[in-house]
Amino acid sequence: MRPAGRRRSYTQRGIERLTCCVDGCNNKARYEWRICADGNLARPICPDHDVALNQLVMRWAFRDTREADIKRYRQKVLG
Ligand SMILES: [Zn+2]
Repeated sequence: MRPAGRRRSYTQRGIERLTCCVDGCNNKARYEWRICADGNLARPICPDHDVALNQLVMRWAFRDTREADIKRYRQKVLG
């Protein structure tokens, strides 16, 4: 079952027992994300979706000027 978001942050051990919050994704979570419009709740997210979300926001905010930072983050998280 997909976990509900929560107000308190997850512990690293706790979050790794959960499934990613992205609809249709069954990967194990490694991080958490908070979205203001979602009540600012902590939601578990898998490494693939964390990288995708970072890329999306970086390109939205900085257009194509931060591609090296996106690539560095991808390599750090996904290896
Ligand atoms: Zn995911």
